[in-house]
Amino acid sequence: MIYDVVIIGAGVTGTLLARELTKYKLNICFIDKGPDAANAASRANSGIVHAGFDAKSGSLKAKLNVRGCKMMKRITEELCVGYRNIPSLVLCFSESDRAALNELYERGIKNGVPDLRIVERDELVKLEPNISDKAIAALYAPSAGIVSPYELCIAAGENAVQNGASYIFNYEVKSITENDGIYIVSDGNSNVSARYIVAACGIHCDDIAAMSGDLDFEIIPRKGEYMLFDKSCAGCVRNVLFPLPTKNGKGVLVAPTADGNLIIGPNANVSEKDDTETTACGLNEIYENAVKLVKTLPSLKNVITSFAGQRPTPSTGDFIIKFSAKYKKMLHIAGIESPGLASSPAVAEYAVQLLSQAGLILEPNIKFNPYRKKLIKIRELSDDEKQKYISKNPAYGKIICRCESITEGEIVDAIQRPMGATTIDGVKRRTRAGMGRCQGGFCMPRVTEILSRELKKDMSDIRKYGQDSILLYGKTK
Ligand SMILES: Cc1cc2nc3c(=O)[nH]c(=O)nc-3n(C[C@H](O)[C@H](O)[C@H](O)COP(=O)(O)OP(=O)(O)OC[C@H]3O[C@@H](n4cnc5c(N)ncnc54)[C@H](O)[C@@H]3O)c2cc1C
Repeated sequence: MIYDVVIIGAGVTGTLLARELTKYKLNICFIDKGPDAANAASRANSGIVHAGFDAKSGSLKAKLNVRGCKMMKRITEELCVGYRNIPSLVLCFSESDRAALNELYERGIKNGVPDLRIVERDELVKLEPNISDKAIAALYAPSAGIVSPYELCIAAGENAVQNGASYIFNYEVKSITENDGIYIVSDGNSNVSARYIVAACGIHCDDIAAMSGDLDFEIIPRKGEYMLFDKSCAGCVRNVLFPLPTKNGKGVLVAPTADGNLIIGPNANVSEKDDTETTACGLNEIYENAVKLVKTLPSLKNVITSFAGQRPTPSTGDFIIKFSAKYKKMLHIAGIESPGLASSPAVAEYAVQLLSQAGLILEPNIKFNPYRKKLIKIRELSDDEKQKYISKNPAYGKIICRCESITEGEIVDAIQRPMGATTIDGVKRRTRAGMGRCQGGFCMPRVTEILSRELKKDMSDIRKYGQDSILLYGKTK
């Protein structure tokens, strides 16, 4: 089989592009070295749909951010993904910082950010009652929002598969060659062939580019750590709060999440690629910075988990979306650091335009269905509706995750859906089972049993996530 397009990388860039391409009569395949979509930056980020005032005017980043932010509402509705349009506030703490605040405002206006304005202390307190007593003004961006990043990534992959795309997981691309206009990617064991290749590999984009001989950019991994607070802390802030940006980035934020938690972070430290460990020092650093933005921040005993993600920072300073110099039909989508999530629908749209200009024939697929197969979330239903589902399938009446009220029926659905979950974290990211206060302490063994039963695998073959995350080594009784 020769695919029309093979996309390497099933982060939000890759899966949204796969979905965009299924709007046309094309054979699409997306590949990832991980066991699921949303392995890397698309799993661990702030989840902010940035309005678009940060990036340098005229850059690709600025253009795609503003466009992506505008597209996000519709796309998340189609894909049934958690999204809320809540404003962002960049806080100014002294008169000497006014110039920087004004500069950000001017840049936002140039970039085309709608309804952007500077608010003074009186209005700021009304907008955000828990604002720090020291904040004197802020840049107010009402077009910003929050989205569940891994949900968006998984939902886009699922919808692409529903519309005919194929996918291969646990497949690490190790080489790319060309033979008579056909590209062959290989993991060392088997080959996948395509007429067009798109590399959307996050922090590994430069490694993939090296395979095609493109050595003109580098990706610098910059780790960002986070702390996530229990849902009881969600009311701490109403908006997404940032300090003024520095040369290191947007700084530590305090924000609600699309799922109803409170998040603080990230810091920004250059580290090794794939290092996603959190450190006591890093977590202290983010708490100390977050506390400056608000009057009161919940205490650390309310933190339910910490995590870290790696920013794929490009050496060029802008998103790199261009064809390989050697392989004319291989498109690099590299250096998609923040605001890459906010930009992702627009990145997909732009990549399709470039592929079309390079000769990819786009004949509309009239069967394309933008709507993701309906999700059943029992916890959100009325008692009558719950009863209806339970009478059809008693598994919808059996709670597995008590913290988040997730039923066995929903977990089975997550496994059986297109591009279904095959790991414990895959179930978690699709259903929220294990994302509550106890972080899977109670439900993980039950989820393991359900995965084992549904996938017809021995329990010892069920992984938390990657091949090495073994939970059970054998029977003791
Ligand atoms: C700390 C942090 C905070 C951020 N906050 C925000 C935010 O609030 N808002 C925002 O808009 N953006 C934010 N971002 C940026 C955003 O997360 C990224 O821009 C986006 O997730 C990039 O998606 P991607 O698909 O390009 O890359 P990734 O999500 O990194 O996906 C790349 C995929 O490629 C796969 N891969 C790599 N090499 C290979 C190979 N050889 N073979 C097969 N597969 C391979 C990986 O397994 C991975 O799944 C943040 C990023 C970080 C790290």
